[in-house]
Amino acid sequence: MRATFFEVDAIIVGGGAAGFFAAIELKRRQPSWQVLLLEAAARPLAKVRISGGGRCNLTHACFEVGRLVQNYPRGEKQLRSLFSRFGPAETMRWFEQRGVDLKVEEDGRVFPVSDSSQSIIDCLQGEAARLGVEVRVNSRVLKIEPGWVVHLRQQVLKAPRLLLATGGAPNVYEWLEGLGHAMISPCPSLFTFTIEDDRLRDLPGISVERVRAVLETKPPLRQEGALLITHWGLSGPVTLRLSAWGARMLQQLGYQAWVRVDWLPDVSQEEVRSMFEQRRAGSNKKIAGDCPWGLPKRLWRNLVADECVWSRASDKMLNRLLESLKNCRLKIVAKGVFKEEFVVAGGVPLSEIELKTMQSKLLPGLYLAGELLDVDGVTGGFNFQNAWASGYVAAAAMAESTA
Ligand SMILES: Cc1cc2nc3c(=O)[nH]c(=O)nc-3n(C[C@H](O)[C@H](O)[C@H](O)COP(=O)(O)OP(=O)(O)OC[C@H]3O[C@@H](n4cnc5c(N)ncnc54)[C@H](O)[C@@H]3O)c2cc1C
Repeated sequence: MRATFFEVDAIIVGGGAAGFFAAIELKRRQPSWQVLLLEAAARPLAKVRISGGGRCNLTHACFEVGRLVQNYPRGEKQLRSLFSRFGPAETMRWFEQRGVDLKVEEDGRVFPVSDSSQSIIDCLQGEAARLGVEVRVNSRVLKIEPGWVVHLRQQVLKAPRLLLATGGAPNVYEWLEGLGHAMISPCPSLFTFTIEDDRLRDLPGISVERVRAVLETKPPLRQEGALLITHWGLSGPVTLRLSAWGARMLQQLGYQAWVRVDWLPDVSQEEVRSMFEQRRAGSNKKIAGDCPWGLPKRLWRNLVADECVWSRASDKMLNRLLESLKNCRLKIVAKGVFKEEFVVAGGVPLSEIELKTMQSKLLPGLYLAGELLDVDGVTGGFNFQNAWASGYVAAAAMAESTA
């Protein structure tokens, strides 16, 4: 049977955050256009549904572009223009104006007041339906050709403008490579570290509010902040940020590397040593039960790993403890999971995109948005912010483009 042929004004491939947002914005600006949104799965917005533990952390209340872009290991400087046009304030206003009440948590993460991602999904689907975006689910695109021709299983579609918002879909990487884009190969970002070290044994759930950690890569990467010990190793903001900035290097190292933790970043080595000497001169308490600095008790006990009392501590033992406190070298043996958020680094290099329009510099009429770009943020709502902003800018440009 010959495939049927169908021409529309604009096609958007991928019914995720970026694709949905772009389709709505485009149809709002060009109400008379036929805008088709094609989604491979039976239900669109799957990642929005599971995001933020089912609550959807849709953006971050960081309203200064210079500071905002520092949360993107890939994309940082180039994202300035994008976020100047559509930043977190615009995202919040967009959803609030459409009836979604939002709240900002203490750490700056923004969620719907309902604490349910369904509020975001209902808003996007309601808006798309109200404006007349044609959303087709179970519609996997099999191939694209310049022109722009889009092949589905039983239909061939054509449109003068095509937006790809397909996230980390590997076959789309292949299409774009075939069409001349130098795709940056995908690589996981935002993961935890699996660590083999007795000093972390039996401490799951323990967190230390402020540590300094250095990932021993070339160049070394440094982060300060909270660290969480898990069943298998390390998690928490410091680990996730190191994993994001070190994503590519750690992949090349096969996730075998060393991380150095300073558990007492505000106390110098000399101060630690002098405290040891004071205790040794006047205390008969067991070291393992007497932490001078308020570290979690079980962590301190593991770092001490000795039953002796202060007054009988040897130099060797105290030197070892000093090393464990200030320069605790832990071996990363594998990449762990971070269930809350998983992001792929890599994709279309920003250098090959006109950032004012999100149009490919190589392929006129082809626009790109969302996680398909070589942009990724740290945890906290930054990844959705990229999806909304790039979808918005692409839609604005598509609406003004002549066929
Ligand atoms: C568990 C989890 C939790 C997360 N939580 C957060 C969070 O709270 N805050 C945050 O900022 N980020 C979060 N993220 C990251 C965020 O979900 C992504 O950055 C964001 O979804 C990217 O949006 P996108 O539209 O570019 O891609 P996607 O959401 O991946 O959407 C792409 C869509 O394209 C479709 N598609 C792919 N290929 C084809 C094809 N050939 N034909 C048709 N359709 C196709 C896919 O089915 C998919 O629906 C989370 C991610 C995960 C996995």
